[in-house]
Amino acid sequence: MSLREQKLRNLTSAGRYDVCSPGECMQYLTEAPCITYAPRRGGCGRMLRVLMHGDCAYDCAYCPIRVAREGFSFTPAELAETFLRLHREGMADGLFLSSGIARDVDTVMHDIVETGERLRRAGYAGYLHLKVLPGAARSDIRDAARVADRISINIEAPSADRLGSVAGVKDYRIDIKKRQDWVAEAMPDRHTTQLVVGVADETDREIFACVQEQYRRVRPTRIYYSAFRALAGTPLADQPDTPAWRAHRWYQLDHLLREYRIDPGELDRIFDAAGSLANRDPKVILAEGMGVVDVNTASRYDLLRVPGIGPAGADRILRERKTRHFESLRDLKAIGIRTRWAAGYLAFPRERTVQTLLPV
Ligand code: SF4
Repeated sequence: MSLREQKLRNLTSAGRYDVCSPGECMQYLTEAPCITYAPRRGGCGRMLRVLMHGDCAYDCAYCPIRVAREGFSFTPAELAETFLRLHREGMADGLFLSSGIARDVDTVMHDIVETGERLRRAGYAGYLHLKVLPGAARSDIRDAARVADRISINIEAPSADRLGSVAGVKDYRIDIKKRQDWVAEAMPDRHTTQLVVGVADETDREIFACVQEQYRRVRPTRIYYSAFRALAGTPLADQPDTPAWRAHRWYQLDHLLREYRIDPGELDRIFDAAGSLANRDPKVILAEGMGVVDVNTASRYDLLRVPGIGPAGADRILRERKTRHFESLRDLKAIGIRTRWAAGYLAFPRERTVQTLLPV
């Protein structure tokens, strides 16, 4: 194995923890763990997920990169060449580039940006996601936004106290949230972030407050949720792993906030007294006790609260009912509504009115 191949193997292996598309597509290329399928418009693409530098001077207690101490690094020229070869051979459609902070943040950010610039100069026009490091300079964030399709900085934990308990080196307000403002300024409509659910013993209600603040303040395109995993050799090795279902429930709750635009005040009641999420679909919990919805008169907002009806389904119902009256679940099924979920929450009053009036 050449040194370049060895680097690729090690730096992609360490980079696989920096997830950017969990829960959306679980189709992994088992023979090449560095390359994962990631969603893109119209299907799936193969994304090379790799680190620029495999070691880090920081010591975040949960971080596998800190633990891996891979010791390998790519130069921007090497990484650009390596990716272009994989791309030409049909092995990778897109690049997700992150890094440990092997030296100072500025040097590593320059390497990341230079890699992107080299790819673009070489004519690569495909997907490019560049990670912004904590403490990055505003000018480097702007440069990353200029060449990338998407940039992101990980927020990791829901508050300064929580992050401080597992990653004391990083200043939550300055190194992360200030940089997030700059990320949003440089690429307002295409930046993301990630939370490590369960990393600092935080409650789901704390995460909820953080997520609301994120969508209000910096408006990330989306937030990714990864379940904390206790890795051998880290100071958190003895902590329990966060169950995968908890991150999954966070994706569902996030959908309700971001796509369904459910009032956060209403969502508050899906948490238990301890501030935890149950392992149940939050939308079903929300629907409990809301009564039935009249399909023919309900607002879009009320339709969206019905399990089985998403934004596209609600819009279809609103469109169709301009010219017709829905009489039964069968009518809804005919326009693609998942009535198995929705059945207990819907009413068709005219049907009932007719039945009531006929005997008279
Ligand atoms: S700064 Fe990033 S790469 Fe370095 S130890 Fe912390 S989380 Fe890991």
